[in-house]
Amino acid sequence: MKNTFTHALPDESGFFGEYGGSFVPEQLQSIIDEITEAYLKITKDEGFLTELADLYKHYVGRPSPIFHARNLSDKYGPQIYMKREDLNHTGAHKINHCLGEALLAKKMGKKKIIAETGAGQHGVALATAAALVGLECDIYMGEVDIRKEHPNVVRMAILGAKVIPATHGRKTLKEAVDAAFEGYLKDPVTQLYAIGSVVGPHPFPMMVRDFQSIVGNEARQQFQEMTGGLPGNLVACVGGGSNAMGLFDAFLEDEGVKMYGVEPSGRDINKDGEHAATLSKGEPGVMHGFKSYMLKDAEGEPQEVYSVASGLDYPAVGPQHSYLNDIKRVVYEAINDKEAIDAFFELSRVEGIIPAVESSHAVAFALKLAERGEKGSILINLSGRGDKDIDFVVENYGSSYGVSDLL
Ligand SMILES: *Cc1c(COP(=O)(O)O)cnc(C)c1O
Repeated sequence: MKNTFTHALPDESGFFGEYGGSFVPEQLQSIIDEITEAYLKITKDEGFLTELADLYKHYVGRPSPIFHARNLSDKYGPQIYMKREDLNHTGAHKINHCLGEALLAKKMGKKKIIAETGAGQHGVALATAAALVGLECDIYMGEVDIRKEHPNVVRMAILGAKVIPATHGRKTLKEAVDAAFEGYLKDPVTQLYAIGSVVGPHPFPMMVRDFQSIVGNEARQQFQEMTGGLPGNLVACVGGGSNAMGLFDAFLEDEGVKMYGVEPSGRDINKDGEHAATLSKGEPGVMHGFKSYMLKDAEGEPQEVYSVASGLDYPAVGPQHSYLNDIKRVVYEAINDKEAIDAFFELSRVEGIIPAVESSHAVAFALKLAERGEKGSILINLSGRGDKDIDFVVENYGSSYGVSDLL
């Protein structure tokens, strides 16, 4: 298996080609440098690597299986496989990097890990890791989101995390990011800010990718054992891009493996504010401490973005994805709300797997590839399970699928 912590990119300053880097105030840079240094050190520490591998196996339940979706394959043509990250403890891939970040914080002698959360998925995964590792955990969340995402707020509280409401502005994710940064700068010595995807200033895009690369490393070996070869196509949804980078990483040098990142085109890809298709519609720039493609409004501020999948509505994308887009190693395509919801029901009814609405974007695109006549096998990263989405989906879309009349 490939060594997870050895990569050609990013370079020493955290750049993937022209993207990435660290664009933060000087005061913050010295703190971030400490994180980089600590991270590079622990990745050579056998004790840390053994502890993480042990938790992946006995706590998360890794390796997650690859499932050969024979019913879908028969129906659509190409052989379709799924990497079952939905079967991880806490129900998605996020636990892979949250455990890594929590262990790093512990090794650095931090007392607390903090983060912002939108729908609460990152918050729950981080609160879980904090409970296990023995750290305090503050999760900043917009007041509006706290009301909307009640079950996740309750989960975080049960897990012992403190949910801190962001009460200014629109009281959603953007304000939660502001509040979390403010909270972090008050005490960067005893706290670690645990970013929730392959975004933010260096070293986070590298670090989160490295922790997620277990997904692709396992998948590459499992797929070879199952089929004797490599998959023809990889498909993963892209919000910030961590589950996609996790899968793609191990296959980047396999020229025969085509890769597709799937962004959300929401309600209307041609209307600002109605989608979050960063690579399809955005342009290079700097926000949130790094350079990448991003969606900006007329004032150059992060655009209000939208997707039916709250885990995908981010106005930028991880810098490595921008790089892979420009060198054309990965093709980025978009799937809209309706296509994603169709795929949500299709996978549920044809294979008995209820996917997260985020992951449904990847499933929808895989089926589109099949309909376009793709003959090669397709490996989908099923990033999470759909339990968190069932009430929302049935309430808003159930009538079109014969579900709501029963309720
Ligand atoms: C958060 C989330 C995503 C999006 O995050 P990435 O960093 O783009 O992977 C995708 N799927 C699920 C299930 C999520 O919870």
